[in-house]
Parts: sequence; structure tokens; C-alpha cells
Amino acid sequence: MTQLEFAKKNIITPLMRKLAAIEGITPLKLMQLMRAGKVVVPLNINHKIKKPCAVGSGLSTKINANIGTSTDESRISDEIEKLKIAIKHGADALMDLSVGGDLLKVRKEVLKYSTLPVGTVPVYEVAVRASQKNKNFLKFSAQDVLDVLEGQAKQGVDFFTIHCGVTKKSLGILEKQKRLMGVVSRGGAIIASWMKFHKRENPFYSHFDRILDIAHRYDVTLSLGDGLRPGSILDATDKAQIAELKILGVLAKRARARGVQVMIEGPGHIPINQIEKNIALEKKYCSGAPFYVLGPLVTDVAPGYDHITSAIGGAMAAGYGADFLCYVTPAEHLRHPTVNDVREGVIASRIAAHAGDLVKRKKIAIDWDRRISLARKARNWKKQIQLSIDPEKARQYRASSKPKLSSVCTMCGKYCSIKLMEDCLPAGRQGTRV
Ligand code: SF4
Repeated sequence: MTQLEFAKKNIITPLMRKLAAIEGITPLKLMQLMRAGKVVVPLNINHKIKKPCAVGSGLSTKINANIGTSTDESRISDEIEKLKIAIKHGADALMDLSVGGDLLKVRKEVLKYSTLPVGTVPVYEVAVRASQKNKNFLKFSAQDVLDVLEGQAKQGVDFFTIHCGVTKKSLGILEKQKRLMGVVSRGGAIIASWMKFHKRENPFYSHFDRILDIAHRYDVTLSLGDGLRPGSILDATDKAQIAELKILGVLAKRARARGVQVMIEGPGHIPINQIEKNIALEKKYCSGAPFYVLGPLVTDVAPGYDHITSAIGGAMAAGYGADFLCYVTPAEHLRHPTVNDVREGVIASRIAAHAGDLVKRKKIAIDWDRRISLARKARNWKKQIQLSIDPEKARQYRASSKPKLSSVCTMCGKYCSIKLMEDCLPAGRQGTRV
């Protein structure tokens, strides 16, 4: 039985108990949320991991870090180093997006070293195989797609991004409208090209029931990808994006009916004033399925700083109810990320997730802020650093600050406002709130 089927039978599993304790909710509540399709636990029956997680409504916002080889950079050791840094800095899940080198071997290593759920975009392997075998990455069949899905599921992949909403209908809508950036999703572009090349419907859509059989067999969670997501804020929330979202909503219902856990992927590039609407539309069209957003990036003008543009969007999205943030590194749009890019991306995304949790799970999330504020007020540097989201960086900065008074920092020196107030309003007269 899949975890969704356990929940449908009102059975609380040991894993549900464990995850409920982490989230600070009752096992019964978690089981009910899973039964309603509002929470998923991406965990393949063939993948044993130390840190599984639950994703969805009422829970803390989770973050994903993408790693994987490119066609230009394919050293497995580099990707394993990225995996380790992402785990160290608090990622909740990893996606292996490899398209270069020995894909099977990379995935085997990623699954071995990851203590977290691992996701993939199987159409990448389908295209790479077709390119190697037939000298054309579009020369693959629906059966090739199913074979890759079966192989990856057997290997232990916990969640699949499948771009099943890129259909003749949604592509037709895209073609009719004037979009600035067209299709920017790599998987979406492969599928759209395949459909044009073969003049056929998307195999991930036409063979969805067969895909459900595979996902059901291994309890793989399906992450229905937004192949038509906007790649420029000028394209945000356009007709093609919404048409695809509606298709994903229908497919999500079919997945749940089959006992397969499902989440929905979302944009992309969205201006700040459209974020709330995007979350509400996903929850409406997809019956509350967990929403996994890629960023979102709130402006297009900051290559080199897109971990920041996406953290702004991610924080807002999480505050409005997005459940899972896909990190963006500073290298986005420019190059294959380095280990340090991964580190910066993970930390930025964690900040965004926590900022969002301060809105949607204030009672639980705010305790961290309370504790660090108290340490800051006491100018307890050791504790403040320990509680920081990135203690290493905080420690380096403090070490490089050499104030004349050791109890302050070089920012304000002898005019340290916290110290001044401590001297003029002794403890007990400052209205301390704890
Ligand atoms: S010196 Fe200024 S920045 Fe530094 S701890 Fe005091 S108030 Fe804060």
C-alpha cells in the first residue's frame, strides 16, 4: 500500500507519527491532511533515508536544492560535494537534474549519499538516451518514457517531475498568445519539441495511467511540472500558464484516486503583486495539493543575484501558502552552479521559507526569532552566532569586528544603542517581552 492508501484507510503509520512530531501537529491531523491530498511524503519504498519530510498545508515550508551534472560539467564528485553542502545547510530535499556523463551512476551515488528525499526529471534521461542511441534526443517513444520511469522508480527515486500539462491544448493556447519568453522549462521544451516533431500528444499525458501504475508500485510522489511556466515577469499568469495549471488539477485528482501522492509545480517569474493570486489559483484548481514553486523570481533584472530575487518571491509565496520552495542559486541564468552557489542558494531559500513560516505558522516559527533576539539584546555573541541561519558566516563577521569595547560591535561602537539603553533603562524597565 502507498502512504496515501494507508491514510485513506485511516491508518496512522510509524512514519506519520515521526513526521507529525517534527511538525508539531498530531499524527491524526497529519494523516487527515495526507488523506485529503494536502500533504505528501515523498519516499520511495526502495529508498532508506534518515530525514524524510512531509510537504504541504499546515506544515513548515520545505526547500529543495537542485544538483546534477550538465553536458559541460559532469564530475560526479563535484555533485556529491554539492549534495553534502546542501544537506549541511538545511535543504529538505534534493533533485538530481543530471544530463551529462553516466546518468545511472550519478543517480546511484546521489541516492546513496542523500539522507533526504531525492527527485528527478525523468524526461532528461529519456532525451539523453535517445540522443546517444538514435543521434536525436527527440527520437524516443512512449515506451521509452515508461522504461525510464520504471528504472528510476526501482532505483529508489522519491519524486518525479513530469511535464504532463504540456498538451496539444495548452500548447495551442501558448501559440495563440504573444509571449515574450516562450517555453523556458527544460523538460517542457523537450516535450513541446517532441510533440511538434512526432505530431502526437505528450506521452506523459496520454500514458498518465501507466505512469500512475509505476508510481503506485514504488510509492513515488508525482510532482506535476509546469512546463509552460513564465520565464519573464511579463509572461506571468498568462493564459497558457493557467491552462496548464487546470490540466494539472484534473490529473492530480486522477493520481489521488489511484492512491498516488501528488504535488503541483508552479512558477517561475512572477511580479510581487501576482504571487498571492498564483497560490490561490493553484489551491483552487488542484484541490489544495501541495504547491512546489520554482523561486518565484520577482524581477528579471538581477542575474548574479537571483538567489535574492527568488528569496523575496519565495518568502511571499510561502507566506501566502506555498508549501515547497525550489532554491535558485546566484548562478541562475548564467552557468552551472558551483558548490558555493549551492550553499548560497540553500541559505537564501531557507531564509525565505522561515520568513513565510512566520506568517503561516507564527506560533511555532517565531520561537527561533525570539531566542536570537534575546541573545542579540544580551549581546551574547556566542549564542547569537549559534542560532544564526549560517553560523559560519556570522562567526567570520564577528571575528573580523574588533571594537574598542568588546561588548559591542564596530557598527555603532561606543554608541551601541542596545548598550546605551541597557545603561539608561536597567533590566526590568525596558518592557522585556519573552
Ligand atoms: S553596536 Fe550597533 S549593531 Fe552592534 S550590537 Fe550594538 S546596536 Fe547592534
